[in-house]
Amino acid sequence: MTQIALKPGVVTGEDYKALLAACKQGGYALPAVNVVNTSSINAVMEAASKNKADVIIQLSNGGAEFYAGKGMPDSFNAKVLGAVSAARHVHLLAEHYGICVVLHTDHADRKLIPWVEALITHGEDFYRETGKPLFTSHMLDLSAEDIDFNLSESARLLARMVKIDMSIEIELGVTGGEEDGVGSDNIEDARLYTQPEDCLRAWKTLAPLGHFSLAASFGNVHGVYKPGNVKLRPEILKNSQELVQTTCNTGPNPLDLVFHGGSGSEKAKIDEAIGYGVIKMNIDTDTQFAFSQPVGKFVEDNPKAFKFQIDPEDGTPYKKFYDPRKWLRAGEEGLIARLDEAFIDLKACGKSLALKKSEELAA
Ligand SMILES: [Zn+2]
Repeated sequence: MTQIALKPGVVTGEDYKALLAACKQGGYALPAVNVVNTSSINAVMEAASKNKADVIIQLSNGGAEFYAGKGMPDSFNAKVLGAVSAARHVHLLAEHYGICVVLHTDHADRKLIPWVEALITHGEDFYRETGKPLFTSHMLDLSAEDIDFNLSESARLLARMVKIDMSIEIELGVTGGEEDGVGSDNIEDARLYTQPEDCLRAWKTLAPLGHFSLAASFGNVHGVYKPGNVKLRPEILKNSQELVQTTCNTGPNPLDLVFHGGSGSEKAKIDEAIGYGVIKMNIDTDTQFAFSQPVGKFVEDNPKAFKFQIDPEDGTPYKKFYDPRKWLRAGEEGLIARLDEAFIDLKACGKSLALKKSEELAA
């Protein structure tokens, strides 16, 4: 097996496919971390660099809107331009962290199709400018619609996206819980588990057009719940892979599977899911908490600095505590520590395909 190497930076098109193939061959997966600002983006790249691992950075529509600024008058425009701005930030900096970064957007349901289409238009402009798309892949989540509409819309967008070397992520079956306003609680149990026959239909529809990844539901939920509320059944992933393999005569694990709602999941089930071709595990709830918890502790440890610029009794200046860089850095360090754990869980440590500077010189 020849170890391939890629240029550090944002990975798209054939390089993205090579990266996913390396994940499957090497038995590991990449964490996909939802980000909301430069602080969370930089912390994700720092964590990846520290662990010598490649990583996926993604934005939900709400995260993109926040990135542009909650006060921007037109919120649709903010969702589009926030995502564009974040992607450009990553394109500029990722290579300097020496790792490969996959850029993604998260759940877009039916009402958010115009958001994805606007981003593809920006991607086409960026492609003309640089020869690369702005994002590696967009997710279209029409799992709440009927499967005919889900697959025909996914095919329509994928046909447009392949022209600029982009991939699509789709969802079949419903991920429980809710992610940034998309999703639903209280859905009947059967819909929490994807049918292998539906995965086969997706393969037959989309594989001839271009590259797609598939968020299949196997009991996974967004958010963190009391133990016992989540019954993960990774064998659904195995059955789906086998059905596609035998029907379409492919190699083993043909589907590139995505594990949504990775926060709070049992480690053994994560392991099993990777064995069945999961190459991406989304993590948001846990990294949100990991960022916020140390900020809370920092405030608790320095309560006066968050009430007074100068101590009213002894005149001590508190500037070096309330400076936002101090408590934001505490948050970044918390996020990095949680990602250290994620890279271990997903067996991604030390697996970066990014060409090292020394290898570049030797080549
Ligand atoms: Zn999700």
